[in-house]
Amino acid sequence: MDDSTRRRFLKDLSLGAAAFSASAEGAQTNQMPGRPPSGDAPPQASHPANIMAIAAHPGDAFFAMGLAVALQVHLGGQGVFLSLSLGERGSARIAPAQYGILQRQAAESAAQTLGARAEFVTYPDGEIPVSEEAKFAVCDFIRQYRPGIIVTHWRGSWHKDHEACYKIVNDALFYAGLPAIDRKQPPYEVGKLFFADNWEDANGFTTDIYLDITTVFERWQEACAAFPMWRGENGFRYNDYYGSLAVTRGCLSGCKHAVALMSPAEQLTRRVKTL
Ligand SMILES: [Zn+2]
Repeated sequence: MDDSTRRRFLKDLSLGAAAFSASAEGAQTNQMPGRPPSGDAPPQASHPANIMAIAAHPGDAFFAMGLAVALQVHLGGQGVFLSLSLGERGSARIAPAQYGILQRQAAESAAQTLGARAEFVTYPDGEIPVSEEAKFAVCDFIRQYRPGIIVTHWRGSWHKDHEACYKIVNDALFYAGLPAIDRKQPPYEVGKLFFADNWEDANGFTTDIYLDITTVFERWQEACAAFPMWRGENGFRYNDYYGSLAVTRGCLSGCKHAVALMSPAEQLTRRVKTL
C-alpha cells in the first residue's frame, strides 16, 4: 500500500468510527416502527448513546462486546450487559450449579468495574431457545433501558447459542419498536445495531467499522479478569486472543487499540442527492 492509498484508507476508517461514536437515540429517528435501523438515521452527537451488549454467555458479552460498551460508558452513556444464559456448563471441573454462581458474580463484578449493569435471562447454557418467550424477554429489556446502540452476535457462528441469540435479538428489536405490541414499557426504536468480532462467529463476518477503544483498554482488561475463564482455565486463552486482537485491529486502523464491528447491510445503505 503506497502512502496516498494508506492515508485514504485511514481517513475512511476514521469516518466509520465517527459514525459509531455519534449518538443515535432511536426515538428521535424517522425509521419505520419495527423496521431495522437504516444509515439515514441523523447523528445526535450532543449526547453519547446508551449501549446494550446482548450475548449468549457472559464471556461473549464482556470479552467480545465489552470494549464498545466500556467506551460508551467512558463517554457518558449508560452501559448494560445482557446475557441469555450464565454459561454455567463452560467448566470441565466445576459443576454447572456452582459455576453458574461464579459466572454471575464475575459478570456483576466486571460490569461494576466498567460502570455498567449486568442483566440475565437464565436459559440453560447450550439450550437457549429461539422462542417467543425469549424474544419478548429481550424486547422488555430493550424497552426498559432504551439503548441507542445494541451490540450482539453475528449469525455466522458454529455455536448454536450464539446463532440463537442473533435470531432472538433480531426479532426482539422488531417487537420493541412496534407500537401495536403492548408490554409494560412503551415502544422503543433502537438507533444502531452492530455485530461483534467473536472468535466463534467468524463465518462471513466482515468489518466495516474500527472503533478506537484505546482509552478504555486497560480498564476493560481489569474488568474481564473477574472471569476465571479469561486466563484460559477452560482451554481457550481469551485474554491473549482478545487483548492481541485489539492490538491487531489498532494496527489496521491507525490507533493503539481498536475493535472491529460489522453493521447490518441495511444500516450501511445511504440516501444521497449527489455522489
Ligand atoms: Zn458463547
